[in-house]
Amino acid sequence: MKSYTIIDHQYDVVVVGAGGAGLRATLGMAAAGLKTACVTKVFPTRSHTVAAQGGISAALNNMKDGDHWRHHMYDTVKGSDWLGDQDAIEYMCRNAIPAVIELENMGVPFSRADSGKIYQRQFGGHTINEGKDGMAQRACAAADRTGHAILHTLYQQCIKHKSEFFIEHFALDLIFDDEGVCRGVTSYALEDGTLHRFSAQMVVLATGGYGRTFQSCTSAHTCTGDGAGMVLRAGHPLQDMEFIQFHPTGIYGAGCLISEGVRGEGGYLTNSEGERFMERYAPTAKDLASRDVVSRAITIEVNEGRGVGPNKDHAYLHIEHLDPKVVEERLPGIAESARIFAGVDVTKEPIPVVPTVHYNMGGIPTNMHGEVISGKGKDKEQVVPGLMSIGEAACISVHGANRLGTNSLLDLVVFGRAAALRAQEIITPGAAHKPLPKEESERGIARLDALLQKKGSLKTGEVRDMMQVNMQKYCSVFRTDKVLKEGIGKIEEAVDAYKDVALADKSLIWNSDLVEALELENLLQQSVAVMHSAQARTESRGAHARDDYPDRDDKKWLKHTLAWLSDEKKVKLDYRPVHMHTLTDEVDVVQPRKRVY
Ligand SMILES: Cc1cc2nc3c(=O)[nH]c(=O)nc-3n(C[C@H](O)[C@H](O)[C@H](O)COP(=O)(O)OP(=O)(O)OC[C@H]3O[C@@H](n4cnc5c(N)ncnc54)[C@H](O)[C@@H]3O)c2cc1C
Repeated sequence: MKSYTIIDHQYDVVVVGAGGAGLRATLGMAAAGLKTACVTKVFPTRSHTVAAQGGISAALNNMKDGDHWRHHMYDTVKGSDWLGDQDAIEYMCRNAIPAVIELENMGVPFSRADSGKIYQRQFGGHTINEGKDGMAQRACAAADRTGHAILHTLYQQCIKHKSEFFIEHFALDLIFDDEGVCRGVTSYALEDGTLHRFSAQMVVLATGGYGRTFQSCTSAHTCTGDGAGMVLRAGHPLQDMEFIQFHPTGIYGAGCLISEGVRGEGGYLTNSEGERFMERYAPTAKDLASRDVVSRAITIEVNEGRGVGPNKDHAYLHIEHLDPKVVEERLPGIAESARIFAGVDVTKEPIPVVPTVHYNMGGIPTNMHGEVISGKGKDKEQVVPGLMSIGEAACISVHGANRLGTNSLLDLVVFGRAAALRAQEIITPGAAHKPLPKEESERGIARLDALLQKKGSLKTGEVRDMMQVNMQKYCSVFRTDKVLKEGIGKIEEAVDAYKDVALADKSLIWNSDLVEALELENLLQQSVAVMHSAQARTESRGAHARDDYPDRDDKKWLKHTLAWLSDEKKVKLDYRPVHMHTLTDEVDVVQPRKRVY
């Protein structure tokens, strides 16, 4: 190995990631007197959370009465197609109310209702009393820039609590000791090419989702699931990776998001016959059915020849009928995106939309306190000491097989806080650290070194294209055994091709070529886990729709998938029971039933 400048640090806690989840945890840890560092590859306020549009849910009853966290819990369990853990869902929905008020008190500039209270809009799958009393107005919004408002406020709060940031540091790998305790993490500082070794009592992975495994997705180019890659390489499993959410309304061609808030404000979809087709698929909730339901409906319309446009391959989303004042006040960002990316004036014409990869329900398995679990021991929930995960990187699991809109921003702040509370219980501030095991602590650095030295004939971008095109083609809205098996072969080819990647830039200063290659390795490992997890699950549930197994099969499949990477192309699968119990006796378990909207 070449010789590198390695700088050592010691903290009680190192949080990797400065999106909504990472910042909420950093803030909580720092406020509790733990010496906390936040390591992030992009400037905190550029994390993907900044792009969240529609809102954050809480049963506040600001617009009308009748909502309750129990209704929120019911909707979330139903939205998850019963794969969510009901105790964790109860925890999230109850805590939604104080969490949003806390954000308001921290200074989040929410939009206001006439009463002066936080403005709330309708959203897909949000109902009152199991839908018997109509749609709820539960999504708390700051116009259509809710994530922006929350992320900036959380960053300000972190500064107030004097949290320390390591910005434009790319985290490489976790450091484990012989007893299986996570002891720290390594990073590469882009600015000056130095390498850093953090010793910590607790590492918290808040690195976001892996949307960029696909060709067309709404998430930022930085959403490469780096934390989950680190977990796989450390020999731990990922959970429920087959559940990839397609958002029904990505802008056709560009892929960027048109929030569900648009339909929440009264927008609707049509096909080439001008028909409001959602009325056929979801007679009650119509355009506000759950995302998986609407995405499948658009895909079926296109497949049956009723798509719009010259290639009949997408649908129209209409808001021309809305009062322009509503658009200006509540949906300014959408109007702008539609103008820039589709050349459409939303007050006059419909927006061309198509289902686009949006969210990863799967990720690093954790318990309700954010502690990572290993898939071993009682109920396969043995904790991996020293390691936590939160946010889209994690799978708690509150979203199960399909996430409801506005429940991710909620998950970030509720479980970011929960992780900080847990850390306070189990960590002694300033406790002495044992020395880090030398070889293990240089594993990430050795990987970086090998990449820099490597010879080959392919560019990172070429192999990334191979992976993204094939994920899009073989792991899409509808899946079959045949297609998934072919997809596994294609991803294996991409994994092999990666061995032939060589970097053009061999320097260490701001080497984006190097960072993209490291990200691609993380993406490929997750693609392998996704494909195998999807091929094995022979049922349709939530976002995982199998043409060859069209029904949900609770007898066989009411369980979480766990996937370990056994070598670069192979996966070992196991399963863990879904928690079909609540946290308290103040609410009943939502028993599985047919999921109709
Ligand atoms: C366009 C869009 C709109 C959305 N709208 C909504 C909405 O209205 N409501 C809702 O509830 N949800 C919404 N979502 C989903 C939600 O915004 C995301 O799931 C959530 O913001 C993810 O937050 P996070 O903190 O987990 O990660 P992110 O915000 O993605 O942040 C990840 C962080 O990890 C860091 N990181 C990653 N890898 C490394 C590494 N190797 N080394 C160091 N740092 C690293 C990054 O620098 C970044 O700071 C939306 C998503 C998108 C894409």
